[in-house]
Amino acid sequence: MLDGKIVITCACTGAETSKALQPALPITAEEIAETAVACREAGAAILHLHVRDENGKPTQDPKVFRKAIEMIRARTDIVVEITTGGAVGDTADERLRPVIELEPEMASLDCGTVNFGDEYIVNTLPVMRAFAKEFKARKVRPTLECFDLGHVHASRILVKEGLLEPPYHYGFVLNVPGAVPFSLDALDSFCRAMPEGADYTVMGIGRSSLPAQYAAIARGGWIRVGFEDNVYYSKGVLAESNAQLVARAARLAREAALAPATPADVRAYLKLKK
Ligand code: ZN
Repeated sequence: MLDGKIVITCACTGAETSKALQPALPITAEEIAETAVACREAGAAILHLHVRDENGKPTQDPKVFRKAIEMIRARTDIVVEITTGGAVGDTADERLRPVIELEPEMASLDCGTVNFGDEYIVNTLPVMRAFAKEFKARKVRPTLECFDLGHVHASRILVKEGLLEPPYHYGFVLNVPGAVPFSLDALDSFCRAMPEGADYTVMGIGRSSLPAQYAAIARGGWIRVGFEDNVYYSKGVLAESNAQLVARAARLAREAALAPATPADVRAYLKLKK
């Protein structure tokens, strides 16, 4: 555990959110870099990155990731965690490509199959093993994303097989339609199933975003906010920006005597590669 500090991740774009739903959604590399700077200033240490093509459609094209990462790097030291969840319908090979070609500091690694509204996300154990092997070979620190209690147990198979190395960082994604609703009880059960000493970020989707932040603060977890998870600031009121959501998370943390961790804190604590 990071003593006296809490890590705030901003998932600023996602694959499913649109400008129609949230006009302030950052889409281009310029917009994403600008968001990264603002979120870092507001207290975020990690930027969870999805990118879009010129038509605003989600893409796993490494060239598009590279452009966004270069623009972010030129302006801020925020840790960049790229997605390998991608968008609904992407193949496993497409999802993994940016990890292989760009070798980022961090990337998400989905730990199982789950309903995603009327769609579904498929991650078989062989796919997870293949991902974990490539992450390990490139020293990319995974955020082990779990949408279901079974996913936490599946991750432990990878641990047992030596495909994952500590420090372990989990991402518990709660309140996805068709998956596990957010509750303290659900969060507790996920936490109990983790390997000892693992850290976790609580990702509350939609209206569960704020309760998930309070739960993370109370329970020793870390926070994720951003338009991928939730576009509102309060009921019926759209957030003005990703940074506005980060600023509130940082404020809540400070009220609980937790300082937002810096990117340097995260790099040291999660032993990210140089
Ligand atoms: Zn994502």
